[in-house]
Order: sequence, then C-alpha cells, then structure tokens
Amino acid sequence: MLRINVGHILSKCFGFVREVQIKGKRFSVSSDLFLDALCGNISLTRTPSGILVAGDIEATSSTECGRCLASCLSTTLTGVSELYTLAHSEQSEFTIDENCVLNLGPLFRELLLVAEPILALCCSDCKGLCADCGANLNKDECECRKESINKNLSVVF
Ligand SMILES: [Zn+2]
Ligand SMILES: [Zn+2]
Repeated sequence: MLRINVGHILSKCFGFVREVQIKGKRFSVSSDLFLDALCGNISLTRTPSGILVAGDIEATSSTECGRCLASCLSTTLTGVSELYTLAHSEQSEFTIDENCVLNLGPLFRELLLVAEPILALCCSDCKGLCADCGANLNKDECECRKESINKNLSVVF
C-alpha cells in the first residue's frame, strides 16, 4: 500500500499532479513501527528532479498509557512534504527506485517516530498507578492510600 508505482507520473510533464488516498489497517510501516490504522491524502507532483510528496497523514497505533500502563490508542497527525529524487542526490535522502516505485514507508516512519506524542494517556483523567503498591488507581482504591489519609487525619487532630 505504501509502495506506489509512479512510472505513469514520471512520463508526464513537470507540474502534473496526482492525488492518492492512503487507507490501511493493521500493518507494519517498518520492523519497528506497527500501525493499527493509517489514512491520509497525498499529492504526487512531477518536478524536474523527481516527485514531490505532500499532504497529511493520520496514524493510529496502540501504546501504553503513560500513567497506568494500560494499553491505549494514540493518534498521530503529521504533515508530509518531501522530494523523492530519480537518482541518489544531495537534495533528498529518498529516491524512486529503478522500477519506478516510490516507497512511502521510510518517509512515514521517520515522520511518525518524530511526531509520536511524548505522553499517551488511556483517558485524560487517568489516576495512574499507586507509587507504593503499584495498584491501578482507576480500578481499585488501594490500602496505602487509605492509610496515608488516616495518617494525615491523625496529624491534624
Ligand atoms: Zn491510564
Ligand atoms: Zn497503594
């Protein structure tokens, strides 16, 4: 899905644009990046040195909640603007291979790894884990919590 044959675009004149809709579920972008879903609208523009890839993509992947470690989904939205050159050049690290295949995988991987949210949460008011016993405070009220409340009360009175 991320490998697009662009032979027909390369045969057009400079400035030719083709819109591509990306839509996929449950696949690996690379060995270290698995997505639950990916969608986006990308335009491929023929330029003198190759093809300009531009648009927006939205990726959904499962991750761990930053507070309670429960599995949750995180959505990453990122803009795409990159030139794929016909031959290896200093203009871009991305090239179209000799079979006229433009592989979006390495580009998307790079963008999504950088755009990954720093702290993903299962819900905005996640209570997290108890620092003392490790209980998930979204599910149970642990004993150490009650104890510390009692201690506080005894200090007050
Ligand atoms: Zn959580
Ligand atoms: Zn506890």
